[in-house]
Amino acid sequence: MKILVLNSGSSSLKFQLFDMPQAKVLVKGLAERIGEKTSRFVANDFEVTQPVATHKDALHLLVNYLLDSKQPIIKNTSEIVAVGHRVVHGGNTFMQPTFINDKVKDKIRALFSLAPLHNPANLTGIETAEEIFSDAKQIAVFDTAFHHTIPEENRKYAIPDNFYKSGIQKYGFHGISHQYVSREANKLLGRNDTKLISLHLGNGASATAVLNGKSYDTSMGFGPMNGLIMGTRSGDIDQSIIFYLLDKLNYSSSDIQNILNKQSGMKALAGSNDLRDIETAANQGDKRAELALKMYAGAIKKYIGNYTAQMNGLDALIFTAGIGENSEIVRKLVAHDLNFIGIEIDPNKNQNPKKYQGDITGKNAKVKVFVIPTNEEKEIATQAYQLMS
Ligand code: AMP
Repeated sequence: MKILVLNSGSSSLKFQLFDMPQAKVLVKGLAERIGEKTSRFVANDFEVTQPVATHKDALHLLVNYLLDSKQPIIKNTSEIVAVGHRVVHGGNTFMQPTFINDKVKDKIRALFSLAPLHNPANLTGIETAEEIFSDAKQIAVFDTAFHHTIPEENRKYAIPDNFYKSGIQKYGFHGISHQYVSREANKLLGRNDTKLISLHLGNGASATAVLNGKSYDTSMGFGPMNGLIMGTRSGDIDQSIIFYLLDKLNYSSSDIQNILNKQSGMKALAGSNDLRDIETAANQGDKRAELALKMYAGAIKKYIGNYTAQMNGLDALIFTAGIGENSEIVRKLVAHDLNFIGIEIDPNKNQNPKKYQGDITGKNAKVKVFVIPTNEEKEIATQAYQLMS
């Protein structure tokens, strides 16, 4: 069964075509800078730089590639029986992968205010795919859905109840990634009754406590700004700072959004949002970069302590996404001095986790430490396949 997975951003479209249930990747690629003159389209080893005006043009390029590449991958678009779409915000409405119809689209539209940067782009991807793959079932897989199991005591903010009733609560993000890596970790542990902490450390970053396979708490909340320090986002800050900026320093609310979303985090601390630059600077003795790394790892450790206490123990700690999968230094700093809760990593294994199937656990450790490459597209294809079946 061929399932196409689309992850649609405002000016990008990432795609993977899977043959399910083996989850064999037939095509992987993306269109980026859609709407600009320098757009780029890549599918497997085929690449062109040409203006791609819209998401529809990008999908046409994909279809041409699928039908016309040297060895056509499909003979007819109707071979693609389902298109799985990553949709960032499912609010309180969507807890499961869902077949898309007009009502579902209306609800995704109604959630624009909660995810203004993502849901509109996700809907564009859906509407475009409906036109081009008109025979296929369209399926939405929500990034918030994995977190719907978070119990009320972790979901509710201590603010007047009318706000909770109107939907102001913790939703959490990166759910597709946390779900994928926590399931993979449970496979490695050989059981599902586990206490895990999943660390998704990419440009955006979040930590999730996963108890018995279900999300129990997560560091992002109502929006995707709080929790861990990120590339350009502050993570947790004292709310009073916002009012001080607003009322005393006369910044507008959009200035503050911009500051906390785009000018904070590692960029503010060390001058770059790319961790590789910061690691290089720290290696050369740059004190700002050293402090930034210490703060970055420190913020993660606070959540490890928090979640280990909440779950009354920990079986495994998981590192994933660009930084989690690639940064030996971040993993080392995070695991440092956590032996009191049984976390210790093997420095040799930490240098090359792939060689050890991602298991970098130290020899005296009680808690497993895994580096598991995330695969949100595969997770979406799997969930879409299960829904189709
Ligand atoms: P993602 O959002 O998952 O694509 O992750 C992007 C982040 O991963 C960027 O901040 C990069 O700095 C970081 N990253 C990618 N490769 C490496 C690497 N080899 N070492 C350290 N950080 C990396």
